[in-house]
This record gives sequence, structure tokens and C-alpha cells, in this order.
Amino acid sequence: MSYNAWFQCINGCAGQYSLLEIIYRCPSCNDLLYVQHDMDALKTRAPAAWIQLFDERFHVNTYPYGSGVWGKKEWVVPFIDNENVVSTFEGNSNLFWADRYGKQLHVEDLWVKQCGNSHTGSFKDLGMTVLVSVVKQMIADGRPIDAVACASTGDTSAALASYCAAAGIPAVVLLPRNKVSPAQLVQPIANGALVLSLETDFDGCMKVVQEITKQKRIYLANSMNSLRIEGQKTVAIEIVQQFDWEVPDWVIIPGGNLGNVSALGNGFLMLQELGLIAKLPRICVAQAANANPLYRSYLQGFENYEPVTAQQTLASAIQIGNPVSIQRAIRTLKKFDGVVEQATEQELADESARADRTGMFNCPHTGVALAALRKLVEQKVIRSLDRVVVVSTAHGLKFADQKTQYHLGTLADVRSTHQNTPVELAADPTKVADAISRHVERTRLLV
Ligand SMILES: *Cc1c(COP(=O)(O)O)cnc(C)c1O
Ligand SMILES: [Zn+2]
Repeated sequence: MSYNAWFQCINGCAGQYSLLEIIYRCPSCNDLLYVQHDMDALKTRAPAAWIQLFDERFHVNTYPYGSGVWGKKEWVVPFIDNENVVSTFEGNSNLFWADRYGKQLHVEDLWVKQCGNSHTGSFKDLGMTVLVSVVKQMIADGRPIDAVACASTGDTSAALASYCAAAGIPAVVLLPRNKVSPAQLVQPIANGALVLSLETDFDGCMKVVQEITKQKRIYLANSMNSLRIEGQKTVAIEIVQQFDWEVPDWVIIPGGNLGNVSALGNGFLMLQELGLIAKLPRICVAQAANANPLYRSYLQGFENYEPVTAQQTLASAIQIGNPVSIQRAIRTLKKFDGVVEQATEQELADESARADRTGMFNCPHTGVALAALRKLVEQKVIRSLDRVVVVSTAHGLKFADQKTQYHLGTLADVRSTHQNTPVELAADPTKVADAISRHVERTRLLV
């Protein structure tokens, strides 16, 4: 059976474009494109046969099928040559049962999808493997592409630089100066990308990258390019697979440019259309209060949408005031009976720290999602018997600096409610024993 997929306008304008064509927007209405699969072809395989195929490929070593993304190749980019797939065996991240934290929140069926446990430390790997593979296929087909470029709040550039380095393709990353963490900055540097640190914010970098990629020899890697979405949607398929093909009641996901929530939705919709699942979860997008255009629109029933100027937030990857995928996200939320919540700097830092006390090591964006979870539980929107998945988007180690500052109590404008500082002592067994007793006593009080 031969499966196929192509670009189409999200507003339904006529026209289909090859995924190997360099096109990011609809020529008629200038809105975004999405990837449409030949669903009739996919439907010729029964749901049980898809499940069997995907389960057989889970964690195998056969390239590229052991990748969480390429294990679903027929649903992602079916026609790409395996030799052009650029994969680090991304995906298949663990689904962490947040037992102790869930008990504290009175939500006992709580899971954290650890997308940050990935090659470059964030979920961006899931989309980037697809985009860079398509570029490699285009170059193999003889298309002149000099480089791949992106604007980034840190994680996209890390993923792009790594996948391009693996493929031997030049990468260009545009970062807002002083707005990404040192760990995020060093990743594209180490991978040999051209790192351009611009005197602007993310939205400013986005404008520049759209200009320079009008010239088609430089390929655009931002999520307005729907190839990224095709990879990222596999997170929904993986979550369902990890629950033995059962659908959770809720998925909470932090949102900035809002490509990822649309991807998550697309994954569930595809599972439903192909008969692998019978219901959809509800979705909550969690935003930082300092960069909350979707939240504001939600409060007005999505009747209006206004971009905002994003204020500084610890959740730097979602410090975005004018999300490219706003309309995609609103459509997704309407289909999934969705809600939007927000978290202040104080709330996201404290929630991240509170959850860390139960064994996690959260990035601030996951902190935003966890703070949203707490609010939805308090509002009784999420009930104690609901099965809830929180999508953790990056590894906490990328944000070691701000987490250290939290525990040292040196963050501006944030009180360190759950501070834990190193105790400096002489190398004296008695003093060490005293310190241990004090620690044990304090921990007991916290339970
Ligand atoms: C990119 C990113 C997000 C936001 O994803 P969008 O698709 O822009 O909404 C959230 N968290 C982290 C860690 C990210 O890198
Ligand atoms: Zn159109």
C-alpha cells in the first residue's frame, strides 16, 4: 500500500502542495498550511493492525523505526527514503507516574510525559527530526538549499543545530539577546551553527527569519512550517500507546507559539479518525501570565484576539506575545472542549519547586502547566478520579541557573517559598549528624 501526504491551506482554499516544495503559506489567503494525509489509504489498514505495527516497533533498534516519531512513519511523512531520515531515536519518552505529587493534589491518576528526556532536552526534537529529514530528502533530490534557519527562544535552535549537524547541513539560529539560558545558548554553539544574537525579542527574530527565508535557498524551520507539527503530533499517539491504547481524561500543555497544542490535537484526531480511539481528552493550554494572549482571548470566548507585548518570564520558551499558530490553537481548543489557564512568576516557580520535592526536576514551562493543574483542581474542573497527563516540555537541567537562584533566594520579584540551600559545615561528624537530624525533622513536618 502506498500512503501519501501533502500541504493544504488551513482555511480550505483549493490547492495541494508537495511536502518537498518550499512553501510555508497559502498563496491565496496567506494563512498557514497543514499536512493532510491520504486518510482513505490509511483506513485500508484496520485499527488493530496499526496498533500491532506500532507496538512491534516500540523501542526496536531497526533504523529509523525505533524512534518514537519514525515508528509512526506512515502517519508522519510516509514517502521519505529511510536513508534520508535524520533521527536520534527521539520520542518514546517515559510517562512518569506522579504518585506522590498527585496524592498531594488529590489527583491520583496523574502522569507527566517527560518530553524533555530527549536528545537535545526538549520536545522540539520530535518536530525537528521530520523537518531536517525532509530537507535532506530535498537536497538528495537535487534541490539547491544552502542552509536551514530558525528564530528561537532556545530549544528550537538547539534541536535544529543538532539535527543539521548530524546531517551535515548548515544551520542558522536567530536568538533574542540575553533572553535564552546559557545551556540553551551553548547547544547550537557546540553543534557548529551560525548563532546570531539579535537586539530584539522572539517576535522580532521571527520577523527577520521570515524575511531571510523568502529567498528559497534558506529553508525556514519554525513551527509555522507544518512539518514540525507532523513530528510533534506523535506525542499524542505515544501517550495513548503508553496507556495501552486508552485515552486520558485531560492533557495539560504549556503554550507559547501554540504549534505544540495544535500538534497534540492533530495526533488525537488522527487516532480517532483511523479508529484507534473512540473518545478525545480535554485539553488545557497553560500560559505564563506575562505572555498570555491566548488566555485573554479565552476569557472572551475566543471572540477577540489581540497580540500582546510579552513581558519577561522565567518560562522563557513561551515568552511570546504574537503566536504564529493562534488560529490553529483556538480551533484545537474548540474541538477538545479546551480551557486556558495562566500562572504568575510566583506560581510557576513555586509549583515547579513543589513538584521537584516529589522527585521531578522541572523546567519553568512545566511549572506553568503544573500551576494550571492546581488551579483546575481547585476549581473542580479536574476531578480526583480523572486521568491527567501533564506534558513536560523541556529538561530542568536546561534551566539550572534560574533553579539555583530560586533556591538561593536571589530571583528578582519571586519569593522562594520552597527554598533549600546547601549547608556549609566543617568536616566534623557531630555537626554532620546534627544537620541530618534537623533535615529529617523538617522533612517529617513537610509530609
Ligand atoms: C517551544 C516550547 C514550548 C512552547 O511550544 P509552542 O509550540 O511554541 O507553544 C514550551 N516549552 C518549551 C520548553 C519549549 O521549548
Ligand atoms: Zn488559503
